[in-house]
Amino acid sequence: MRRQRNTKIIATLGPSSSRLPVIRALFEAGADVFRLNFSHGDHKTHRELFGIIRALEAEVGRPIGIVGDLQGPKLRIGTFVQGPVILRQDQTFQFDLSPVPGDATRVHLPHPEIFAAATVDTELLIDDGRLRLKVTKPGTDTMEAVVQTGGRISDNKGVNVPGVALPLKPLTTKDRVDLDFALALGVDWVALSFVQRAADVEEVRNLIAGRAALMTKVEKPTALDELEGIIRLSDGVMVARGDLGVEMAIEAVPASQKRLVRAARNAGKPIVIATQMLDSMIHAPTPTRAEVSDVATAVYDGADAVMLSAESAAGAHPISAVRMMARIAEQTERDPLYRAIMNADLITPEATLADAICASAAQTAETLKAVAIVGYTDSGSTALRAARERPTVPVIGLTPKVETARKLAIAWGVHSVTSRDPSGFDDMLDIALEAAAYDGFGKSQDHLVIIAGVPFGSPGGTNVMRVARIP
Ligand code: PEP
Repeated sequence: MRRQRNTKIIATLGPSSSRLPVIRALFEAGADVFRLNFSHGDHKTHRELFGIIRALEAEVGRPIGIVGDLQGPKLRIGTFVQGPVILRQDQTFQFDLSPVPGDATRVHLPHPEIFAAATVDTELLIDDGRLRLKVTKPGTDTMEAVVQTGGRISDNKGVNVPGVALPLKPLTTKDRVDLDFALALGVDWVALSFVQRAADVEEVRNLIAGRAALMTKVEKPTALDELEGIIRLSDGVMVARGDLGVEMAIEAVPASQKRLVRAARNAGKPIVIATQMLDSMIHAPTPTRAEVSDVATAVYDGADAVMLSAESAAGAHPISAVRMMARIAEQTERDPLYRAIMNADLITPEATLADAICASAAQTAETLKAVAIVGYTDSGSTALRAARERPTVPVIGLTPKVETARKLAIAWGVHSVTSRDPSGFDDMLDIALEAAAYDGFGKSQDHLVIIAGVPFGSPGGTNVMRVARIP
């Protein structure tokens, strides 16, 4: 089984997508990676979802990536006793430190630091800025605010306090518990929310200690100030436009997105575009033209993955949303201008043997009209460096480690396959030819470009390239 596109799709799981038949349908519609969002749901639910994905993976015989997304020091309100409530313009609404579930007059806000920092006229934005309130009576454990922009408010919605510097640690107590849980489950990626500085990433990277790949979510403008260091310490980056668009002027988000895609692509780290991509499909069976264009823009920019949040987690049309994303990606990648637009930012190989070989492999594959580049990869690095070239053919990432195969599910153009380490050059060709044939990459006499690090099975860089013909 192979996808007919380079751009990968991440689907967030939630109440609309918590059973095996739906998750299977999401995979069949095009989801390559599933996101468990620790901002919602409990450990029991996440464990069940994790088990379903792994069972599906065994059933379909393809590695599936799982992202455990930590809530981070994201500020959120508590819950409501009788479900969502509507806040009307000019009404007074109270925030307090009492954990009692809220109603139409008040809600728990479990963040003493906001009470300490808020003054009269401090703005509180809720649910990605959909609702806007202004503090009228600050206080140490209770404060009153007047609704400026009303709307529906429900359990655990995010709160932003733009322009107010809050002393936030990269991981909350809940995050530490969730991180241990996610690592024990065996997630492939840990997504870190609300990163403000490179030191935040370093701290969590040390805690993860190689047990999962680390994806930094950029949703604070301060992260952009330390972008180079953050990307160096991360294995991947997510443009978390929901909070980013609240924390900074919304019209500045597209330029930040472009900058992040360029920087991450240049570093060879997977870059994910997230939030509101097909937002209207939470309710409607088809997206708006603007949403289709937004997904296509991410594809044209050469992003590794596009992500669905509420569309697949809590929407009415989760499967159609994934199918729509896949259709947009496939159609966009067929555009004759796709390559020219994607390669407008010149990404040149670094002066390393691995990059020299990956660039040669991409060039050779194009010249010979090969059907794939086959990259032997232990950590995933060879496949990612080959994908960084954005070659005209898929990269088959052959790895002895299932963890690596799952991690690579997020990467642009990579079709990962688990295999044993070759015993020598002839075996290397045999395994590569078999893998390409098994998943329908070519027919007799087609060329494959094979890259690897020799000696096999020992750590070290990519140092050989061979061209083989399918017998
Ligand atoms: C975002 O803010 O865009 C995002 C992806 O984070 P979350 O879904 O956790 O709010």
